[in-house]
Amino acid sequence: MGQSLQVALIKGDGIGVDVSEAALALLDAALQKTGQTRISYREIAAGAGYFSETGRDIETGGEQAAGQADAIFLGAIGLPTIRHADGTEISPHLRLRDIYQLYAGVRPVRAYPNAPQRLADPRARDIDLVILRESTEGLFYSAAVHGRSEVIDDQEVRDVLRITRSTTEKLHRFGFELARKRKQRGSPGKLTCVDKANVFVSMAFFRQIYDEIASDYPDITTDYNYVDAQALDLIRRPWEFDVLVTENMFGDILSDLAGGLVGGMGMAACAEIGDHTGLFQPAHGSAPDIMGADRANPLAAILSAALMLEYLAQKTDRPALLDAAGLIDAAVYQGFAQNRIRPLEFGGNMGTRAVTRELLTLL
Ligand code: ATP
Repeated sequence: MGQSLQVALIKGDGIGVDVSEAALALLDAALQKTGQTRISYREIAAGAGYFSETGRDIETGGEQAAGQADAIFLGAIGLPTIRHADGTEISPHLRLRDIYQLYAGVRPVRAYPNAPQRLADPRARDIDLVILRESTEGLFYSAAVHGRSEVIDDQEVRDVLRITRSTTEKLHRFGFELARKRKQRGSPGKLTCVDKANVFVSMAFFRQIYDEIASDYPDITTDYNYVDAQALDLIRRPWEFDVLVTENMFGDILSDLAGGLVGGMGMAACAEIGDHTGLFQPAHGSAPDIMGADRANPLAAILSAALMLEYLAQKTDRPALLDAAGLIDAAVYQGFAQNRIRPLEFGGNMGTRAVTRELLTLL
């Protein structure tokens, strides 16, 4: 047994609780199978439910405790019926993103056999790409939570799209490293810069920094696309892309579109990585319409847990964690390929617990 790792665990609200428990079961099983490392969890109370009981959106010291762990795992936060006085939803996780500058939003989009494919073209079965969404600036620099919008009067409001050299250099470097890592596993090794450099100075700056960083990665194919053309190409030829790097708002929109190509929210895994820590969570919300009903598809959370193991493998130099991540990914792939995973979300007959049990068996 190696030294144990600590993960801050925020189960949150609604189906966040169910899918967190599913992810933990898979994490434990995969780690046991590969030996070596244990994970201990420091559970942190946060979310809309916690807010309605206590008036706080996260327990006292919760942000600091989250940052002290090796990584943060989050289920889902927010309930539409519980809001702040100004009408906004409870969202302490957005603060975590800001405090820890989790700039690299990693959203894998992969087609699984027997899972819904929304495109008739048979090549849709080869979709395997990652959207790398910058997650701390861009147009979200002015997100309401930060209070930075400029309200001139009741006739005009201005939001700022901010691109900084320091964050953009880190983002592009992250993108090239990710493309390189994927190339080692058989992907084409291509990083597409998605921008609107033909219209905005900020976007031309984004592309200029991409070009500067590209010179350090001659083994990676460079590629450019304007964001409007990229939306078209995600429908027309998504199987031709590997890693797409983009500004925050563009990434927000394109990742939902891309997620829809391979099923739905229940498949959308997400990692948000900064210089010191990473937050891993399914990209979906707390889905109050199906909470407490054993209906949630836990795969987005489970695949996010696998992303966390990959991150921890690199951060703490424990290659065995990569094996554990690979086991989880393989169980999901095999589960679909053998038609042993049939989530209710896709018209199947398996709820959260049944999918989790089957994956544990596969593993
Ligand atoms: P947020 O703004 O926090 O993302 P939201 O209300 O916009 O939340 P979700 O909570 O993700 O969005 O739910 C959107 C729809 O997708 C709902 O109908 C929900 O039932 C469905 N959904 C989301 N996640 C899952 C899941 N894991 N399994 C099955 N259905 C899901």
